[in-house]
Amino acid sequence: MSMFEPCYHPNLEFLPPEEQRRVQAGLLQQQLRYTLEKSPYYRQSLPGCRVPEKPEEVFAFLSSLPLTTRDDLARCNEAFFAAPPQAVREVVCSSGTTGRAIALPLTSVDLEHLTVAEYYTFAAAGLTENDTVLLCVTMDSLFMAGMAYYLGLQRIGCCVLRQGAGGPALQVERIRRFGVTAIMTVPSFLLAILREAEKQGLSKTDFFLRKAILVGDAVRDASLRPNAVARCIAGLHNLELYGNYGNTEMNGSLCECSAAAGHHIHPDLVHAEILRGDGSPCADGEPGALVVTSLQTEGAPLIRYRTGDITFRITEPCACGRHSHRIGPILARENQMLKIRGTTIYPAAVRDYLHGHEAVRHAVLIAGRDACHGEQLTILLCVDSPDERLHTRLRDELADAFRVRPALEFLPEERLLELMSPPGYRKKRWFIDRRGEPD
Ligand SMILES: [Zn+2]
Repeated sequence: MSMFEPCYHPNLEFLPPEEQRRVQAGLLQQQLRYTLEKSPYYRQSLPGCRVPEKPEEVFAFLSSLPLTTRDDLARCNEAFFAAPPQAVREVVCSSGTTGRAIALPLTSVDLEHLTVAEYYTFAAAGLTENDTVLLCVTMDSLFMAGMAYYLGLQRIGCCVLRQGAGGPALQVERIRRFGVTAIMTVPSFLLAILREAEKQGLSKTDFFLRKAILVGDAVRDASLRPNAVARCIAGLHNLELYGNYGNTEMNGSLCECSAAAGHHIHPDLVHAEILRGDGSPCADGEPGALVVTSLQTEGAPLIRYRTGDITFRITEPCACGRHSHRIGPILARENQMLKIRGTTIYPAAVRDYLHGHEAVRHAVLIAGRDACHGEQLTILLCVDSPDERLHTRLRDELADAFRVRPALEFLPEERLLELMSPPGYRKKRWFIDRRGEPD
């Protein structure tokens, strides 16, 4: 009992931009009509709102609608449920760090949407039925990601190993024993696995591993060059790295292709905008807030959902032959961006830099504010041999890379790990925001 007749276009990204826009306009009309009628939240917040009859007017109509924030979604969670309960096949929760997780119901249409989104993702990364893929991501706990990757890889025809958790030594054993050709994990954990392999004296020829699809953190900087973690990975093993960006609210992920020039947006599955603080659209390459509108989504469709991620748009044609727009790596979470003496700092970029540093084991960044100097950044580090020389060297290197000189403090490993995993946190914490606290 579906309210949608889903219509996927696997080759749409290779067609001219105007054809993509034509198809997307029709899907957007269909989705907005459905959402405004079936979603209690939008029915109430946008009463009497009518979707234009002419497809070419739908984009301007969409831009006139208000944004939906994560706070709206958390506050009125159930009001976003648009499908009848008997149509729901799964409920997933988005990984909130604190408070009540946001729940999203998925119907059979949404599960197919998710499968197709991940199929596009893995096809862009060049995976085929000849690949054996090790999934080192959480498969349960109501997380969407692990299930999504599994569905997409199965649709490609890969052999999938649902390893999930496990230390680096176990992952090395799995890679060798089952002839794994591709791995999906977070960049810092891939680095730990490759360091373990090196420790065991294994050479590059002991593995068939040739691709890594990396989630959670970026592998490229704002110029799309490999960041510090990616360079460390490259130093250990000859791997093709593909950045992957996704969120539960978007019901799918976006992946880099072999050209490594941004994450392709699937025009039949999601509508994406990059906006300035005043709500106007950003120019190409200009960092702004990523805002997504669901397409072909039944359970909890969202209109202009502000993801909280900062990135930029790339519209020039890609060397892979796709004409779909792309987004760059995620530069920061909106609420993490810092302005220190006029310089914008993306804490995630500082963290990536430190993760790739040979002297650093763990890092926690603390944002603060002081009455005289405004926003401040303090970095707590666990290093192998803490001394004054390393302290000065790291400060100089950070000043070169980011044009600010944050305060650095070395801490013993157990103190830092305690700070990273306070009770109630599902993910390791690497950023602490004390800007709202009194001096
Ligand atoms: Zn491409």
